[in-house]
Amino acid sequence: SAYQPASARYDTMLYRRSGHSGLRLPAISLGLWHNFASQEFGGKDSLENCRAMLRRAFDLGVTHFDLANNYGPPPGSAESTFGRLLQQDFRPYRDELIISSKAGYDMWEGPYGNFGSRKYLVSSLDQSLKRMGLEYVDIFYHHRPDPETPLEETMSALDYIVRSGRALYVGLSNYTPEQTRQAAALLRELGTSALIHQPSYSMLNRRVEGLLGGGSLIEALRETGLGSIVFSPLQQGLLTDRYLQGIPEDSRASGGRFLRPEHLTDEVLGKTRRLNDLALGRGQTLAQMALAWVLRWPEVTSALIGASRPAQIDDAVGALSKLDFSSTELEEIEKILAG
Ligand code: NDP
Repeated sequence: SAYQPASARYDTMLYRRSGHSGLRLPAISLGLWHNFASQEFGGKDSLENCRAMLRRAFDLGVTHFDLANNYGPPPGSAESTFGRLLQQDFRPYRDELIISSKAGYDMWEGPYGNFGSRKYLVSSLDQSLKRMGLEYVDIFYHHRPDPETPLEETMSALDYIVRSGRALYVGLSNYTPEQTRQAAALLRELGTSALIHQPSYSMLNRRVEGLLGGGSLIEALRETGLGSIVFSPLQQGLLTDRYLQGIPEDSRASGGRFLRPEHLTDEVLGKTRRLNDLALGRGQTLAQMALAWVLRWPEVTSALIGASRPAQIDDAVGALSKLDFSSTELEEIEKILAG
């Protein structure tokens, strides 16, 4: 039946400005890295599950869906699935959506199918637009730094992508603080300011804070005026109650490529149990506390979650009813994370 979005969809979501830009993003965004490969792969009713997740997200004010050329498997299939649902359900709402894609990882064979050349970025985005049935994406990212292509070439390709109407904004993903400063300066000179950075960040992965060396990305964002959208804030599900009683068969860690049973060490599970107790004491789930915790930085515009079912999206958006932490709670979290 035809999709009628909830009329209250903008009532509770929080929208935060991405750096010094005009664009506000929902504090919770939905990424389609996993679970969107339904046509070519996957279970018999998974297209319906994808549809249910997109509808639930949008009904809750999640206006931003994040994709990349290579999401699948096979690469491209997440964009195809999303494109199909977009045409069926969301066509009238295109202007209420922020849709992103990326290029940087392996996409097709030969020397032009990955990294950061102008040849790869422009042709990859053209393919992405075709798969999604879109005239433009809202945000296009360079997905990872390229050690060989001059940064000038990659940034000039991003500038061209905006000027040619293929994207409204551009972003950087997985760039170091120093690469971010250089890229932001080049884009500024070209007249196409970078909108956003997409790094990984969670309670179990704090590289962006700079405490592991390599500089603070948070500091670089503050200096350059970029916003950020942090991926895997739930550490792919470790920072939820998913694994507290073992490894469910339908979970990412069961037979997954990116999260495996060996990641569920006694040390990690010990921490998640203690964090779970602390979250319950705050009146929220562990997932909700983990999301509130990454959003405590003003430099973090949005937390980019994944989901395998609609209820996980409800859980994530529920984090917004308690974002603040007392200093005692923050200290307690530091103690738990330190082991
Ligand atoms: P998360 O850390 O949010 O992990 C999502 C997974 O955690 C879900 O698929 C689900 O796994 C589990 N989960 C989510 N919510 C709950 C909940 N409330 N209770 C219990 N379990 C839950 O993020 P992802 O790793 O999926 O990454 C999110 C997005 O970030 C991607 O879709 C992509 O858009 C982007 N990304 C970008 C990268 C980059 O290089 N720029 C790299 C990686 C991701 P289960 O299947 O077990 O239910």
